[in-house]
Amino acid sequence: MTAQLTPDTATSAAQTFDLTHPSTGAHVGTYPIHTADDVAAVVADARQAARWWAGLGFAERKRRMNRWTAWLARHSDEICDLGYRETGKPKGDVQFELLASLEDIKWAARNAERVLKERKIAPGAAMLNFDARLSYHPLGVAGVIAPWNFPMYTPLCGMAYALAAGNAVVVKPSEFSSATGVYAAESFAKANPDAPAGLVGWVTGFGETGAALCRSGVDKIAFTGSVGTGRRVMAACAENLTPVLLELGGKDATIVADDADVGAAASAVVWGGLWHAGQACVGIERVYVAESVAPAFLREVRSRVENITVGLDDLSDYGPMTMPGQVDVVRRHVTDALDRGATALVGGLDSIKAPFIEPIVLVDVPEDSSAVREETFGPVIVINTVPDVDEAIRRANATDFGLGSSVFSENHGPEIAALLRAGGTTINSVLTFVGIPSLPFGGVGDSGFGRFHGDDGLREFSRAKSTTRKKFGMGKEMQEFPRTKQQFTIVRRVLKLKFSRRLH
Ligand code: NAD
Repeated sequence: MTAQLTPDTATSAAQTFDLTHPSTGAHVGTYPIHTADDVAAVVADARQAARWWAGLGFAERKRRMNRWTAWLARHSDEICDLGYRETGKPKGDVQFELLASLEDIKWAARNAERVLKERKIAPGAAMLNFDARLSYHPLGVAGVIAPWNFPMYTPLCGMAYALAAGNAVVVKPSEFSSATGVYAAESFAKANPDAPAGLVGWVTGFGETGAALCRSGVDKIAFTGSVGTGRRVMAACAENLTPVLLELGGKDATIVADDADVGAAASAVVWGGLWHAGQACVGIERVYVAESVAPAFLREVRSRVENITVGLDDLSDYGPMTMPGQVDVVRRHVTDALDRGATALVGGLDSIKAPFIEPIVLVDVPEDSSAVREETFGPVIVINTVPDVDEAIRRANATDFGLGSSVFSENHGPEIAALLRAGGTTINSVLTFVGIPSLPFGGVGDSGFGRFHGDDGLREFSRAKSTTRKKFGMGKEMQEFPRTKQQFTIVRRVLKLKFSRRLH
C-alpha cells in the first residue's frame, strides 16, 4: 500500500522541494519550503489549540493518545512503506522504529498524571503553618525539530512527551525525511478528528525554516540533530530565551573486557555498528578490546561482518546512505585512518559504492584521527586493542561526546558502566537503554542536554509551579514588619535545634 501524501496538493507555498528514494531516485513527494511568516501562522494555530488540549486534563488526553497509537498500529504497513521509500532503510527497521515509538506514546500517556499531577510537599520547620504544593503545567507550544535518520521515531517521541504533558506541538522534520515526519504529525488529527486542527502542526523546509521555528516564540524547542546545528539552534533560541532540549550526535564506545563472552560481544558490536548503515546517533563507532581476548574477538567480528548483506531487499541487513553528503564524511574518515597507519580488517575505501557502503572494520586506528574523534555516521567500526579495562575506560571517555556506551564483562559490568561518561550504558548488549520508555534518554557534553523519555522526559515539557497557602497563624508572622525580638528568638531556636547536632 502506498501512503497518501497530502502536501503535494495542499501546499500553497511559493517554493517547494522534492523528496526521492536515496538509491532508486523514485519520487516520494513534494513539500513546501515554509517561510518565517508561514511558521508564525502554524505556531499561532497551535497556540489556539493548546488551550483546548491543556483544558482536557490527563484522562481525556490519555484517551486521545491511546486512539493515536491504535491508529498508527493499524497503518503500520503504510508507514513502513513510506519510511522505506524515503530513507531506503529496510522495512523491518522502520517497523522496529514504529514499535519503539508506540511504546513511548503509550508510556507517556499512561504516566503523565503520575509524574505531573499536583502533589503535597512537606513545608519544613520554618514554614510549618503553610500548606505547600508542587504542580507541573504545560509550557504551551513545543517546537520539535527532527533529523532524517529516525524519521518516524524522533518526531513521534517529541510529540508524545510534549502532548502528554499538555502542550500543542509544531514539528519540523528533516528536509531528507519530510514525508514520514509530516505523516507522523498528521496522524494525530487523523486518529482524533475532534482535536482542533492546529494542535499538532508541521512546517517543512531547510535550515532557515528550522531557524524560524526557533525564533517564533514557541515555549520550548526540542532539537535532535548534529552538534553544529544544535549550537545554531541554541543561539537562535537565546534571542527570546526560549528553552532548548538538545539531543545531538554521539561517538559511542563499547568495552570488551578480559572476561567478556567474545562471541556475544562481537555479535552485538556488529549489529550496533552496522544497523541502519551506521546512521544511528547511538551506533557503536569505537570498540576498545582487552588484549587477552582481542584475537578471538577480531576473528568473531570478521566472520560475522563477512555475512552482512547490503541492498534494497526487505531482508537486507541494511540499505543505502540516506543523505548523500554523509558518504563523503565516511570516505574522509576512512582515508585519514588508513593514511595514518590503521589496518582494514574488513573492507576499505573500495567498500564505498554510493549510495551504498559495505561494512568497513578498521583496527589500530590512531586515537587522534577523525575516525575516532568525529562522528562518522556510517557503517564503519573502529576497533583498538588496549592493555586492560582501565585504559579502555580512559579512551572511551576521552571524547567530547557522551551519548551511549556499552560494556561486555561477565563479572565487572556494573563497575565499568559506572565509570563511563555517557547518558546511558548497556551491559552485555548494546543500545537497549534507548528502548525502555521509562528510562530517560539523552547525552552529556557535545551530545547535548535535557532528556526524552521517562519521568524526566515528561517534566522536560512542563514548568514547575510552587504554591503555598497559610493554614493557621502563629502569632507574630515571619513575613511581616516590624522586626521583633520574638522573631529573632524563634529563628534562633529553630536554627540551633535543627542544625547544631553533629551527624556521624
Ligand atoms: P542536522 O543537524 O543537519 O539537521 C537536523 C534538523 O535541523 C533538520 O530538520 C534541519 O533542517 C534542521 N536545521 C538545520 N539548520 C537549522 C538551523 N539553523 N536552525 C534550526 N534548525 C535547523 O542533522 P541531521 O543530519 O538531520 O541528523 C543527523 C545528526 O543527528 C547526527 O549528528 C546524529 O547523531 C544526530 N541525532 C541525534 C539523536 C539523539 O537522540 N541524540 C538522534 C538522532 C540523530
